[in-house]
Amino acid sequence: MKKTSVAQLLVALAALVFSAGCYEVPVTGRRAMNLVDDKEVTKMSIGMFDDMKRRYRVSRNKDHNEQLQRVGSRLSKVVFWDMPDADWEFIVFDVPQINAFAMAGGKVGVFSGIFKIAKTDDQLASVIAHEIAHVTAKHVHEKLSRELAVSAVGTVGMVGGIVGGASGLTIDALGQVYGLTTGISGFAFDRAKEKEADYVGLMYMARAGYDPQESVKVLEALEMESANDPTPPALLSTHPTHPERILALMDAMPKALTEREKSRASVVGGSK
Ligand SMILES: [Zn+2]
Repeated sequence: MKKTSVAQLLVALAALVFSAGCYEVPVTGRRAMNLVDDKEVTKMSIGMFDDMKRRYRVSRNKDHNEQLQRVGSRLSKVVFWDMPDADWEFIVFDVPQINAFAMAGGKVGVFSGIFKIAKTDDQLASVIAHEIAHVTAKHVHEKLSRELAVSAVGTVGMVGGIVGGASGLTIDALGQVYGLTTGISGFAFDRAKEKEADYVGLMYMARAGYDPQESVKVLEALEMESANDPTPPALLSTHPTHPERILALMDAMPKALTEREKSRASVVGGSK
């Protein structure tokens, strides 16, 4: 039997990343690595979302539910071409934590605590748009792909697995990347991913006609909450915040405001 050298493996891996394993992030156009099977991630994400619906009480608060449906339906129209296969679902969980997440397949959950920092539609839109941006930018795929790539160098068998798209991807790993494991702290998106999700989310909310400037208020409110509370909001452990985030949002604001104007013009021109 022929032995496969590490060098050969790396070449195979590089070829894989270059061909099937590449995708372009919407809005920013950044090229990124994707070694995991989209369909499989979506299927597992839907399973995890169903599991959450069984584990947590779904909120009966009429205002919160109506607000999330209103904002969610507007945002989902804007991101249609970035997530054409999504079967959207927006759920408010009756959990006092400040947290929100979006998953592949169009599954969006917010914990009722989020309404402490997102009081208006514009503010809620900035939170949801940021979460959806993590999904359309495939940050979860990228993170899982990196782990698979690292483990593949050590194990010959893994490469076949990656080609098939199946091996190595577990519910556990996915849950950690989404930040939904009970221990939380495990995985958090890095600064570059947070900034990218901020930027893409800002454009999404502006295209949906929301005021992008409200995104700054939400980040400020989140920082206030963490200053006042000894246990920092859950949202911060999966989406680390830092002063650069607000500065980067400010930088992108003129472009976002232009996007918003364009969306207004098309709505006015198209309907009346
Ligand atoms: Zn984030």
